[in-house]
Amino acid sequence: MRSADWKIIGSFGTILGVLLLIGGLFAYFYEEQRWIFVVAPYRDVAAPLVIAGVVLLVVGYVSNVRAREEMKIEALPKLPQPVAPPSVPKRFCMNCGTELSPSAKYCPSCGQKSKD
Ligand SMILES: [Zn+2]
Repeated sequence: MRSADWKIIGSFGTILGVLLLIGGLFAYFYEEQRWIFVVAPYRDVAAPLVIAGVVLLVVGYVSNVRAREEMKIEALPKLPQPVAPPSVPKRFCMNCGTELSPSAKYCPSCGQKSKD
């Protein structure tokens, strides 16, 4: 996946995680007066909300880390491809057989004048 995809997951995971955590805490501490009793009607759903929130926060954090890593990889300069040298037919000295560079007029080894 590209860094942008991880970034989206990271952002949504973090935002949803925070919302669920707040919701969970609110559900836990919410109390209301019913006749003479004070009850906390949403306390049962608080734990699942908090757990889901923490899981989403972890997912969001991991995705954000992942996005940063992907961005680093995408920012890396492409390695230059090795350029194949143009195929020049090799030349050899007529006298001693030393390989001659394409532009050599004389053999570097024995001084023999090259033919072409
Ligand atoms: Zn030579």
